[in-house]
Amino acid sequence: MGEDWQQELRDSLRRPEQIALRFGLNLQMVREIARFFRVQITPYYANLIRAKGDPFYRQVVPDPAELRSDGVLDPLAEDEDSPVPSIVHRYPDRVLFLVSHCCASYCRFCTRKRKVGDPKKIHPQAIEEGLKYIQNHPEVRDVIISGGDPLMLSDRQLEYILFSLRQIPHVEILRIGTRMPCFLPQRITKRLVNRLRRYHPLYVNVHFNHPDEITPQAARALNRLADAGIPLGNQTVLLRGVNDDPLIMRHLMQKLLTVRVRPYYIYQADYVKGTDHFRTTIEKGLEIMEALRGWTSGLAVPYFVIDAPGGGGKIPILPKYVQEITAEKVVLRNYQGETFVYPQVKEKKEIPEIKVPCVDLEANLPWR
Ligand SMILES: *Cc1c(COP(=O)(O)O)cnc(C)c1O
Ligand code: SF4
Repeated sequence: MGEDWQQELRDSLRRPEQIALRFGLNLQMVREIARFFRVQITPYYANLIRAKGDPFYRQVVPDPAELRSDGVLDPLAEDEDSPVPSIVHRYPDRVLFLVSHCCASYCRFCTRKRKVGDPKKIHPQAIEEGLKYIQNHPEVRDVIISGGDPLMLSDRQLEYILFSLRQIPHVEILRIGTRMPCFLPQRITKRLVNRLRRYHPLYVNVHFNHPDEITPQAARALNRLADAGIPLGNQTVLLRGVNDDPLIMRHLMQKLLTVRVRPYYIYQADYVKGTDHFRTTIEKGLEIMEALRGWTSGLAVPYFVIDAPGGGGKIPILPKYVQEITAEKVVLRNYQGETFVYPQVKEKKEIPEIKVPCVDLEANLPWR
């Protein structure tokens, strides 16, 4: 694999003239869209595109539908949960740490369109403030390094962040969220991986939306990470015209397992301004979940979640397997639609109370 990822990045399609010419688009339209959200496609990913409107094309090539005004800029109200510009602190024990404003290619459906691609919104100086915030918040035991794409930083910059976080005693686990194995697999160099492995426990979550994105190059990048002992998870966004099909999704999840990536989340597309043409119904997601559970390995079944509008966090959405609960029985449905009855416990009162002196875990949780 060529190790010169910076050259590949420099050769990316980004000038509106280039984009319009390559894809036969109206130049004015491309310019207008690029003013709102950056356009950039790595040569590697551009080569996956086989036809206008195919799943790869739709993810990265600008579409006039992006100029429609429905949707909101910050649907997850992340800015309200942002104590300093680089931190989103929504959950009790973990934070998002936004360390880079840029990406190798720009997904037209990006939830953080309002920030990503704009150096004023995710500023390098904000990294210091973020580190201070985490230092001063002992309840933070899990840091999700995100952006933009953190692997757009140089090895040195990234290592500075990992090293600094590892100096903070209450930070237990580190996670990196990146789309590089999909957009620019050359970025996963031996040198990078040898640096990453010094900061365990380190998890990496990647982002693949279609089985054909797992090319031999992507597989090699993922294998390098896995060989360094980095547990890999995948986040997929459910997108109309890309992967809103139970068979495509099942194939994607199964293929991820063959390259040692555990499917983690399928996201319902957020209500982001300029991305309405990507949204599907919730029922489509449920249909996909039904086509996974039971029909293939449990390892291949991620959680289907909706990030609650207004900032309520991720909420799992499940097909209705529990059909009825009464004092006597629970009526269940299996993956094939057959019904089963599980008898309830009769006398709940008879269970003897266990009197073992033990630490009250709940009361000792740091955020109580
Ligand atoms: C998704 C997310 C996390 C991480 O959530 P997990 O369910 O632990 O993966 C943390 N903070 C914010 C703001 C998030 O959106
Ligand atoms: S890689 Fe992630 S942050 Fe970057 S444009 Fe795509 S979805 Fe947004």
